[in-house]
Amino acid sequence: MKRNVLLNPGPATTSDTVKTAQVVPDICPRESEFGNILKQIQKDLARIVCGNAEEYTSVLFCGSGTICMDVCLNSLLPENKKIFIINNGAYSERAAEICKYYNLPLIEMKVPLDERPKLAGIEEILQKNPDVYLVYATHNETGTGLLNPIREIGALAHKYNCVFAVDTTSTYAMLPIDLEKDNIDFCMSSAQKGLMAMTGLSFVIGKTKLIEESKSYPKRSYYCNLYLQYEYFLKTGQMHFTPPVQTIYAAKQAIEEIFRDGIEQKYARHRKVHEAIQNGLKELGFKEFVKKELQAGLIASAIYPDDKNWDFEKVHDYCYERGFTIYPGKVSNINTFRLCSFGAIDVYDIKDFFAVFKDALKHCNVSIPVKYNEEAK
Ligand SMILES: *Cc1c(COP(=O)(O)O)cnc(C)c1O
Repeated sequence: MKRNVLLNPGPATTSDTVKTAQVVPDICPRESEFGNILKQIQKDLARIVCGNAEEYTSVLFCGSGTICMDVCLNSLLPENKKIFIINNGAYSERAAEICKYYNLPLIEMKVPLDERPKLAGIEEILQKNPDVYLVYATHNETGTGLLNPIREIGALAHKYNCVFAVDTTSTYAMLPIDLEKDNIDFCMSSAQKGLMAMTGLSFVIGKTKLIEESKSYPKRSYYCNLYLQYEYFLKTGQMHFTPPVQTIYAAKQAIEEIFRDGIEQKYARHRKVHEAIQNGLKELGFKEFVKKELQAGLIASAIYPDDKNWDFEKVHDYCYERGFTIYPGKVSNINTFRLCSFGAIDVYDIKDFFAVFKDALKHCNVSIPVKYNEEAK
């Protein structure tokens, strides 16, 4: 099979064994053979982010990653309580938008996209708003690659008796996460990102006790309710509605491969790939949007050079035709493109990519090293 190197922020490059794991005899997902696979996946998903399987559980959903944001926000808010979102990127902005669609009482702390939130500011908001129940942040703001200090935010949330939910969609199984140590009550991800599997299976991992408590909270969605999905699985061992059957076979294979190869090795590989990407960008003179020390180490956001010949689409197409996919950024006032180190790729792929990327720049007559006007950062 042709192998493409995807440097976009998911879906990520998958192994051939994960791709072919989807080709299985037809099966009705209500059979116990399939139920056993779901149960194993449910356990394994929690195992990746917590040692204590007694206290935490995972709940599976059929959909892309956004379904888990929707589920957590609409399901975990008791009556007369507020959500507090720390908003410093496109994904926390999406979370705020979800709250607005459900008319959920929301406090937003807006922070510039290339900055971490100030903990004192978070504490002040929590102090002044005792009716906040759910604190929500994004671990790695995928639009820029900025890492938020979730452990510290979680400690503050707990100090003020709040529940802390984190969007870990773009860090799960790529950066070490420990729900207990990181003070996270709920996290989430989607099979096409850190698991290096297929789109269509997403999951929330959280404290069982808190899910049980949410039974009495207002039900704001029929399809996307955390407690209903949790309870149905507990009672029947099946997902409430038709699961993405073949996608689940791929996820099973991907999880087996992660445990087989070692998760620590996986973290190290993502880090090395990211470093190779940063070095490649630096050699060509590209500037990054987020300071190195604030990055999650999984996404490089490069600023467009000030060169009249620079044309992202042309460079993209040149690379795409040669098996490499690059992706635009998500920053409204400044043009960036992203190179992500999510999938089953290694340092040699990045070397091959930069050979092609450099050819693309030459092909477009962009000067190398690339140029920036004085005022650009
Ligand atoms: C990818 C991603 C999502 C989900 O996006 P989908 O397109 O719905 O899969 C949510 N949050 C973050 C931080 C992400 O990176």
